[in-house]
Amino acid sequence: MPVSDKPRQRAIVIGGSIGGLLAAHQLLAIGWEVQVFERSADDLADRGAGISTHQAIFDAASRAGLVFDTSSRTVPRAYVCLAQDGRVVEQKPAWRTMTNWSRLYRPLRDGLPPANYLDNRVLTGVENSADGVTAIFADGRRIDADLLVAADGIRSTVRAQIFGGAAPAYAGYVAWRALVPQSDLPAATWQALEDVYVFAAPDGELLVSYAVPTRVEDQHRGQHSYNIVWYRPANEVELRDLCTDDQGRQHEGSIPPHRIRRTVVETMKADARALLAKPLADVITCCADPFLQPIYDLASPRVTEGRVALLGDAAFIARPHVGAGVTKAALDAMGLADAIVAEQGRLKPALRRYNDERTRFGRWCVERGQQMGARIKRRAPGGAAPTAAELDQNCRLYLDDYIRVALDIEALTGGAGEGGAG
Ligand SMILES: Cc1cc2nc3c(=O)[nH]c(=O)nc-3n(C[C@H](O)[C@H](O)[C@H](O)COP(=O)(O)OP(=O)(O)OC[C@H]3O[C@@H](n4cnc5c(N)ncnc54)[C@H](O)[C@@H]3O)c2cc1C
Repeated sequence: MPVSDKPRQRAIVIGGSIGGLLAAHQLLAIGWEVQVFERSADDLADRGAGISTHQAIFDAASRAGLVFDTSSRTVPRAYVCLAQDGRVVEQKPAWRTMTNWSRLYRPLRDGLPPANYLDNRVLTGVENSADGVTAIFADGRRIDADLLVAADGIRSTVRAQIFGGAAPAYAGYVAWRALVPQSDLPAATWQALEDVYVFAAPDGELLVSYAVPTRVEDQHRGQHSYNIVWYRPANEVELRDLCTDDQGRQHEGSIPPHRIRRTVVETMKADARALLAKPLADVITCCADPFLQPIYDLASPRVTEGRVALLGDAAFIARPHVGAGVTKAALDAMGLADAIVAEQGRLKPALRRYNDERTRFGRWCVERGQQMGARIKRRAPGGAAPTAAELDQNCRLYLDDYIRVALDIEALTGGAGEGGAG
């Protein structure tokens, strides 16, 4: 519903992934004109993997008149800690909601009229002035607006231009990701894992895994897939090696999945067979296209400057243990629209309000992620190997941490107690 009778205000959203789409929907819902500019020329639905999430994303969808139907979620029955020898070390009732990145992206993208989404547009610069903001694109085009929402992710061009120094800091470990449709897994493996949220903690490492709805594109391969996130320490030198492809090209910060060297994948799969319980190792071994994501921390000093608002990963990157990346983007998008409505369309106080609220939550997520990931690290050289009892206890601590953070997020965001952390 428009907030006033004045001419409609105009927003440019940079980045057409989940954060940008959420922002576009929330601003359209309050009567703004919105255009999303996305760098990629492709549909993004084949990105991402399993996601554990919170109620906020479903609230944001319904406020925008979108429906994420129940087939877009799974709910595990129990959390379990699984030792390498297959023992269930701990078991607690679960109350999580799991989904798949593409199941969130698809309705958000399809729900946006084509005229509101322009692909293959690379933002190169921003100019703020007292009465407007101008986005400058690689093809030389300049587009004016009342507000620019920067949802351009971890390597945000807008953030770099505005805050120069605020760059993501590598956390010292990577996440190996595997997403395998049920039909590709041995029946016994699926039965062992299908309804449990699993924690495994080999020395200095952490694995979390759960079933999720299959990607929209893979639905012919079964209703569900199994999703693994395996956090493994890698120092800067090791990270550079992991991100170097067959041609010897070193990719900056991360490497596209199809570029990961075969030997790197084979070594990771051999480690899985040596360190993990058999069903988990089976999933990783069956995965045709595992990929890795280095883990970063980023806290922007503030999330607004003039008529620019940072949102989602462009603003704050919390380690995925908090399970709040998508939730944070949804809360940012709703918070921005709410602030504009509360200030009756006056942008200056609205952005001040947005900055105060979102900076607080963003910082909380970043700090919590750092605390939760602090035990993921290489053992000191010459240090004694942990006993089985110590490994079991470490795994229990992770499980409890994950339960606690999900409850804390629900309490902070007024959710209905259905969250999760990845
Ligand atoms: C290992 C791992 C596990 C995770 N697990 C979870 C989980 O379980 N639950 C959860 O909630 N979150 C999880 N996350 C985080 C989550 O994926 C993100 O927080 C969330 O997707 C928000 O992303 P975004 O839209 O802000 O940014 P992105 O998805 O990075 O999108 C940025 C977009 O901007 C575009 N872009 C960039 N630069 C430009 C430019 N100059 N011009 C135009 N367009 C541009 C890009 O092409 C991209 O489409 C996880 C992350 C990792 C790394």
